[in-house]
Order: sequence, then C-alpha cells, then structure tokens
Amino acid sequence: MPSSFVDLHCHSTASDGTLPPAQVVRLAVDQGLSALALTDHDTIAGVAEAAAEAKHLGLDFLPGIEISAEYPHPGTMHLLGYGVDPQSPALRDLTKALLAGRDSRNPKIVDQLQKLGVAITMQEVQREAGGKVVGRPHIAAILERKGYVSSIKQAFNKYLAPGGLAYFDKERLTPTQAVAMILDSGGLPVLAHPIQLRYQNDAQLERVVKDLLDLGLAGVEVIHTDHDAPMVEKYTALADRFGLLKTGGSDFHGTNKADIQLGIANGRRVPREWFDQLMVALRDKKQLGISAAKSV
Ligand code: AMP
Ligand code: FE
Ligand code: FE
Ligand code: ZN
Repeated sequence: MPSSFVDLHCHSTASDGTLPPAQVVRLAVDQGLSALALTDHDTIAGVAEAAAEAKHLGLDFLPGIEISAEYPHPGTMHLLGYGVDPQSPALRDLTKALLAGRDSRNPKIVDQLQKLGVAITMQEVQREAGGKVVGRPHIAAILERKGYVSSIKQAFNKYLAPGGLAYFDKERLTPTQAVAMILDSGGLPVLAHPIQLRYQNDAQLERVVKDLLDLGLAGVEVIHTDHDAPMVEKYTALADRFGLLKTGGSDFHGTNKADIQLGIANGRRVPREWFDQLMVALRDKKQLGISAAKSV
C-alpha cells in the first residue's frame, strides 16, 4: 500500500530551487512520500529527469508547472498546471512566452543594481541559475554571497521585492491566457496558495475563484506553507462548494527557502487521496479530449 502522503508543489534547479530534479525525487522518497509533482516556475525542463528517477525509485510522479498571472498589486496570482504534456506544442508556446517575459525583465534589474554600485552582471546571474529560468532568487543568492545583504530575505526586502531599489515587474499572462494555455497543454489548472491573492474579504476571494472556474479552473491549493488552520478550513469549504479538486504542497525550494521541508506545509501533510483524485480528473480530461477530437 502506498504511503498516505504526497507533495504537489515544489521547485528544482530547473527554476529557483537549489536541488536538481532527481535529488528532489530522492528526498521525497526519503521523506516517505508516495507521490510528487514537480512545479517549477515557467518550465518543465526538470520533469524528464525527475520522472526517470521517480520511475527508478517507484515514486508516483506528475509533471507540473507554476505560472504567475497578471493580478493587481499587492496580490499575486499563481496557477499550477498539473499533468501538462511535455510534447504539446501549446506547452512549448507557453514556456516560450514566459521565458520572454523574464528575458526582458532580468537585465533591467541587473542594470539598476549596477547603477546602485552593486558588482553584478547578467553572465553571473545566468551562471547562478544554471538554466533557462533565471529568477530573482538567483540574483538574491549573488547579493548574499557578495555580502551586499545578509540573507535572501533581505535581498528581496532591500532590492528585489515591489518597493525595493531594483524592482521591475515582468510581463505576465492574463489569468484567462494562463488557464487556457494550461488546458491546451493537456493539464489541469489549479489556483496556487490563494492567500497570496491578498483578497480583502471572502466575497472577493469567491469572485476570483468563480471567474477562474468559468475559464476552466480545476482545483484550489488548500494546504500550503503560507496557509494556517483557518485558511485550510476556508479553502477546503470553498473547493468543496464549487466542486473543485483540492491540492497541496510545501513549495519546497531547497536552501532558497531554507525553512521549508519537502512534504510538510506549515506542519501539515498532504493526503494521498488528493493526488489520486487529481489523477482521476486528468484521466477524465484526456478521455474527453480524445472523444471530442474524434467527434469533429
Ligand atoms: P521571479 O519569478 O523571478 O519573479 O521570482 C519569484 C520568486 O522569488 C518566487 O517564486 C519566490 O521563490 C521568490 N520570492 C519572491 N518574493 C520573495 C521574498 N520576499 N523573499 C524571498 N523569496 C521571494
Ligand atoms: Fe519560487
Ligand atoms: Fe507560487
Ligand atoms: Zn511555488
């Protein structure tokens, strides 16, 4: 019998985590998890390596991606795409669009840091990232290493977060585009960590979820490191009321978020059942997709 816990939200070196995909998988096994979804920002570049290691070790594995959508400040809207098909042209288009948004933003941050007297270059940042998805955490790691700040957190507060000295936003997809592109890529869209929407009241949260539901939202991330007990309760009720899937994960980033342990989200674990339900929904979607294609 598989163990009863899973983690459906984590990052590897393919984006801004510090462990390579295969090592994240090994850690999941060490933590006694029975299934894992890798959800790197804007890329599935880590998925093949993770899937191979998971197969080798007998861990159930689901490819995923995490996308930031346009949303009014100070909130942020992240959408998780589960079960996206690495071969799909829609997914290739999606990741290309997302990387273009980063490629136009990152040099602006580096230029501004240089103007502020910080010794940093885009080459260094790219080297730090070691891949295509170059993010602010990589810049933060350089700032920390060079002693400009004493922690990643401080790098964000002083330079990289909104209001910081070298903050630039990146171009994002609208929620409509993000949801549609995840669906077109064969995946199921799930609203990540709703607390980060920074909604004013429950009615506003509900409106956002309803609007996303009309676009094809499939689930809500209920358990997450940023969610306390009342939030978990609220998002459970919300998901159940709208007939949405419940998902959960730690948002593990390795030492880039050193206080987060894989498999544990603010003291909670994610039930295996939620993974199984997600897999059933994915199978249904794929079957529907096939029959729809046949009928035209
Ligand atoms: P980017 O995708 O390049 O805009 O960077 C976003 C990532 O930076 C997030 O996914 C987090 O991993 C990290 N991040 C954002 N804000 C903070 C913060 N205040 N402190 C630490 N890490 C952060
Ligand atoms: Fe991140
Ligand atoms: Fe996120
Ligand atoms: Zn994440």
